[in-house]
Amino acid sequence: MNLVLFGPPAAGKGTQAKRLVAQRGMVQLSTGDMLRAAIASGSELGEKVKHIMQSGGLVSDDIVIDLIKSNLPAAEAAGGAIFDGFPRTVAQAEALDAMLGQRGARIDKVIRLKVDEAALVTRIEKRFADEGRADDNPEAYKVRLAAYNAQTAPLLPYYAAQAKLYEVDGMGAVDDVAARIAAALG
Ligand code: AMP
Repeated sequence: MNLVLFGPPAAGKGTQAKRLVAQRGMVQLSTGDMLRAAIASGSELGEKVKHIMQSGGLVSDDIVIDLIKSNLPAAEAAGGAIFDGFPRTVAQAEALDAMLGQRGARIDKVIRLKVDEAALVTRIEKRFADEGRADDNPEAYKVRLAAYNAQTAPLLPYYAAQAKLYEVDGMGAVDDVAARIAAALG
C-alpha cells in the first residue's frame, strides 16, 4: 500500500508516519528529512537547498522528484511507502503518479490531517524551542504556511477527483489521531 500523509507544516505528519512504519513495516519517505540529511552531510545538494529551506520556500520540483524516485525500489520491497511532505505541488503529484504507474503501483489513499492554524503556530513555537530547526522560526514558518496554502492545498481537489482523499481530525493526542488514521485505512 502507498499512502500520502497530507497537511500543513507541523500538522503531525512525521509523527504519524513513524507510527505507521512501526505498525505496518512500510517505509517513510520524507523529502524534508532527506533534504536536511543532505544539508547535514555538506553535500552539493545540501548547499543548493540550504537557503531556500531556511527561508521557508519550496525547493524545485526536480530535486524532490529525483529524491523520491531513488527511494521507490526500497519502499516497494518493504510493502509500500508513506509519503510525508511529498508531493507538495501538482507537478510533484503528477510525477509521483507517473513514477508509480511505471512500476505497476499507485497511491492508494491520501490521509489529510485537518488542524487549525492557531494550534499550528503554538506547535511550531514549541518545536522551535525543543529542536531548534532553523525553518521553524516564526518568520520562516509564515512563509511555509503560505507555500502550503498557495502550492500544496490545490492538491486536495486533485486527490479528491481520484476518490483517494480521506479527511482525519489531526487535533488532540497523538494516540487519538493515530486511531483515526487507522480507522480511515480500514
Ligand atoms: P518538511 O520537513 O516536510 O516540513 O520540509 C522542510 C522544508 O524542506 C520545506 O519547507 C521545503 O523547503 C523543503 N521541502 C520538503 N519537501 C519538499 C517538497 N516536496 N517540495 C519542495 N520543497 C520541499
